[in-house]
Amino acid sequence: MALREIVVDGDPILRKKSRPVEKFDERLHILLDDMAETMYLDNRGIGIAAVQVGILRRIFVVDIGDEHGKIEFINPEIYEREGAALGMEGCLSCPGKSGYVERPEKIRVRAQDRNGEWFDMEADGLLAVCICHENDHLDGVLFIDKVVEVEEEEEGENDPEEAES
Ligand code: ZN
Repeated sequence: MALREIVVDGDPILRKKSRPVEKFDERLHILLDDMAETMYLDNRGIGIAAVQVGILRRIFVVDIGDEHGKIEFINPEIYEREGAALGMEGCLSCPGKSGYVERPEKIRVRAQDRNGEWFDMEADGLLAVCICHENDHLDGVLFIDKVVEVEEEEEGENDPEEAES
């Protein structure tokens, strides 16, 4: 496994639409492992999309620290959304920024795993928020586009309790 460099806001790649994954090979597995390692660095991230390490493929990894552990989503599709709630978000690609975003309370999503097998799951609360946030990355959308109010942190301030994805 290896750390990958996080692409930050201002880089035009973050605004591009990611393409579907077609090959479920060793290369994909290495990418997934690297993404997870990069996400877990300093315990900062609860989710990471491939575009955030410069790869325009429809892939993201989430781990909100609950009983699900790490979940890998490839070619995901959120096909049901229910309710709405405001929650605080941050993003590894938008350092120093956080703000409230409205997201569904509950979603259903289907996706492929690293071997190409389809799975289907229901998610609510923080996990639903995280999946929606990452899914937006695949379409070039950042949380700051949807935020109610952006909070800029003071230079050098870094709240380790604040989850970013
Ligand atoms: Zn993000």
